[in-house]
Amino acid sequence: MMRRKNDNKRYFTRMGTRKKVHAFVRVKPTDDFAHEMIKYGDDNKSIDIHIKKDLQKGVVNNKQTDWSFKLDGVLHNASQDLVYETVAKDVVAQALDGYNGTIMCYGQTGAGKTYTMTGTTENYKHRGILPRALQQGETNRIIASHTMNKNSSRSHCIFTIYVEAHSRTLSDEKYITSKINLVDLAGSERLKKSGSEGRVLKEATYINKSLSFLEQAIIALGDQKRDHIPFRQCKLTHALKDSLGGNCNMVLLTNIYGEASQLEETLSSLRFASRMKLVTTEPAINEKYDAERMVKNLEKELALLKQELAIHDSLANRTLVNYDPMDEIQIAEINSQVRRYLEGTLDEIDIINLRQIQEVFNQFRVVLSQQEQEVELTLRRKYTLIDKNDFAAISAVQKAGLMDVDGHLVGEPDGQGFGLGVTPFSAKPGKKAKSKKMFKEQLRPSTPPPKPVAFEDFKNERGSEINRIFKENKSILNERRKRASETTQRINAIKREMDVTKEALNFQKSLREKQGEYENKGLMIIDEEEFLLILKLKDLKKQYRTEYQDLRDLKAEIQYCQHLVDQCRHRLLMEFDIWYNESFFIPEDIQVSLKPGGSIRPGMVPISRIMSLGEDDQDKFSQLQQTELPEGPDSFSFYNAKVKTEQKHNYLKTMMGFQQAHRK
Ligand code: ADP
Ligand code: MG
Repeated sequence: MMRRKNDNKRYFTRMGTRKKVHAFVRVKPTDDFAHEMIKYGDDNKSIDIHIKKDLQKGVVNNKQTDWSFKLDGVLHNASQDLVYETVAKDVVAQALDGYNGTIMCYGQTGAGKTYTMTGTTENYKHRGILPRALQQGETNRIIASHTMNKNSSRSHCIFTIYVEAHSRTLSDEKYITSKINLVDLAGSERLKKSGSEGRVLKEATYINKSLSFLEQAIIALGDQKRDHIPFRQCKLTHALKDSLGGNCNMVLLTNIYGEASQLEETLSSLRFASRMKLVTTEPAINEKYDAERMVKNLEKELALLKQELAIHDSLANRTLVNYDPMDEIQIAEINSQVRRYLEGTLDEIDIINLRQIQEVFNQFRVVLSQQEQEVELTLRRKYTLIDKNDFAAISAVQKAGLMDVDGHLVGEPDGQGFGLGVTPFSAKPGKKAKSKKMFKEQLRPSTPPPKPVAFEDFKNERGSEINRIFKENKSILNERRKRASETTQRINAIKREMDVTKEALNFQKSLREKQGEYENKGLMIIDEEEFLLILKLKDLKKQYRTEYQDLRDLKAEIQYCQHLVDQCRHRLLMEFDIWYNESFFIPEDIQVSLKPGGSIRPGMVPISRIMSLGEDDQDKFSQLQQTELPEGPDSFSFYNAKVKTEQKHNYLKTMMGFQQAHRK
């Protein structure tokens, strides 16, 4: 009755792909087979159970009268030979290639689990999976070890075959290890039927418990969303921890009776089989490396490469290149080379070999970090440095009037772009800066206002247009950012709903598979709920794609806007700097000459004028400023004269700056 099909062969793909546990059913031969109730599918891959209405009450306490179970094969009146071929041969073959394998027999007592797994010892033809697996291993010249326990119906029995396979080529450092677990489970029948008492009942209860733990573990394994699998609940699941699911090839063979009287247990066994089919595993090779062989191989390779290098050197006329690690003297030499190179006294560093190149880079890093430290040290010696982020310290400095006029800009409201710098204390030893009022009263104050204040003025004056554009661009950018964040939130919400729908769909599907699927002329019958879920999922996917496209477009826009904003900010700052210099440093008459087409271009100030004011004038001047002004506010005309001189001086300073910048 059992037909062997080609598609029953080669169940196991190479690696990396998930696959389901293969579930087979073996029916114990009987003269009293319940033809009316147990029917096999045409392809021998399903079993239909039908219970007559009148029998229904007595046999199964269930409204249902029909079940259909999908399997990977039904073995009816099958020889031990055929069972091994169908169920075990590929698992064992794959174990010899490094994949772990588990074959498990499940079913009620007497249904033939032990017969299938171990077989009878009297008749060679009737030997089971275990002796055949050892035999298959032996023909492959693999050393296998095993322990055999005396098996009873009331205990679980696990045989483990350990495989370790080395390549015939001695130099090959890779080898594989694998395990084959052959599991003969204790009887799965329910307690009330076995009629057990006393110690036997206790044992049976225990077995039943461990089987139900096994079921729980299997249900958890079948649920892709679960990441915790309850393996530790009992010895059985603990022992099978790395044999259930995971990276192994897994086969479940369910032994059933063919008689009508056993139908209730048969149904329960078949349900277990279909739950098991939901479990997926991801077979992978257990590859190991023989460290000793590996070292030997590497040493050999190293010697070869050294010889190869020597040949290359002699061909290139290079003598005696040393490829060993560098010593301290060599490293010091490279360090000095790098220093000379940075100073400009050495034009090139000759390349010798890879090690030397690496050391050159190393020394660059060393020199760089030393220089950084030196710069910082010099700065600290000269200045008191304040942390830019220490706002309390900065405001204290500002309050004390110690903030230099050249202190950098206080940032825009969003804090982008501008830094706040603090210049040396020593530059203004404790003297209070002139009040802001003084700036206002004079058109061109001798001491320019602080840049942050000036910047606000600039934004209302000459910079108003560019500032307007800048603000506009920023608001567009912010609006796009907001939209992108909203779209992202929507995408996440859709994704969550997709997950929930998928989960519900999986649940419906597993429900269908657990209860036995209904098929009608090859068409799957799906209930309305599942159908609606499928539609919903499709719709969600569509929404997801649209939103995702939107988000991508938005991101491109954001990038573009960001660029515009950066450009604008840069422009704003540049214009401000020009405006600041023009307003507070360069006298108006010169400004006219400086304008495009004017008579003076940067770098063209007559030398005689630069020479006309020396350092001393500046010194005298600032002394006057400091001593006379606070006490004698009446000496205004005198003060004005000073201002004029100072302006001239500032102008020259600026022009010299221009000139220098121009030369660079
Ligand atoms: P289980 O281990 O499931 O309790 P056993 O393997 O001990 O059941 O089988 C009970 C009896 O039925 C044993 O005597 C066994 O030899 C016999 N038996 C089981 N299956 C077959 C089969 N397929 N062909 C012949 N005899 C079988
Ligand atoms: Mg047994």
